[in-house]
Amino acid sequence: MLYALQVAGSQNKTTAEKSSYMEPLLSRLRSRLFRDGFRFRKYDDRYPGPPDIALPKYRIMIFVDPCLWHDRSECKRKAFPPEMLRIWQDAHATQWEETLEDRQRLVDEGWTVLSYWECRFCDNRRREKRLKAFLSDVRRAARLSRQ
Ligand SMILES: [Zn+2]
Repeated sequence: MLYALQVAGSQNKTTAEKSSYMEPLLSRLRSRLFRDGFRFRKYDDRYPGPPDIALPKYRIMIFVDPCLWHDRSECKRKAFPPEMLRIWQDAHATQWEETLEDRQRLVDEGWTVLSYWECRFCDNRRREKRLKAFLSDVRRAARLSRQ
């Protein structure tokens, strides 16, 4: 099973704050999928997260995790001042473990969970390449789900 799990993610509580500024990126990912013939659900709240994109037909869930969740030294976006990052991380630190457990549970239930950091798609020069890679991840997961 294809399984790409990275650290941390969103909880129900944070979906609103997350979606407000990540919506342009998520729309771009969704429209790529749509053009490729995939049909999906947004924020399906029957599942933990909820997933930014769910493809029930192939049992695929896609999460795009805000850069706030990870160590900014690894991230080129650096959109948030350090103090805000610290406060945010402190406030949500206890949710990290739970989020990982939730995603593991989804995998145990037979879902393929694809997780990406927001900054993966933020570099203008690499964006097209990364979007293509994203699409091929989904295609591959979809193929595997039918085996
Ligand atoms: Zn990042």
